[in-house]
Amino acid sequence: MKSLAQPATRELRGLALYRDHHDEIIHEGHGSYRVPGCGGGTYTVDLAVFTDEPETCSCPDYQRHKQTCKHVYAATVARAKSRAKARREQHQRAASRASRGSVASLVAAL
Ligand SMILES: [Zn+2]
Repeated sequence: MKSLAQPATRELRGLALYRDHHDEIIHEGHGSYRVPGCGGGTYTVDLAVFTDEPETCSCPDYQRHKQTCKHVYAATVARAKSRAKARREQHQRAASRASRGSVASLVAAL
């Protein structure tokens, strides 16, 4: 359990990073993301999606503390968002394949 006296600042900074810079987060494939850093450079986040290893980041914060950093959180959000988008598009394709009218509108309402 995390103490409430220690706010989850890395999580919050990761969310803020995603909110402000999600256009600059680039999925390079295989769970690897390029995430902008504060100083104008970019860091490479590996979400290790195909292994049981923990996710890693090339930034100094992660290298020093070996704790999930804000870049990892931002990349995690980016991955979740792109998955949700893919699911929505799947629904839309299914809806357009379904016969027009009531079935399509039912599926679209899901
Ligand atoms: Zn990082």
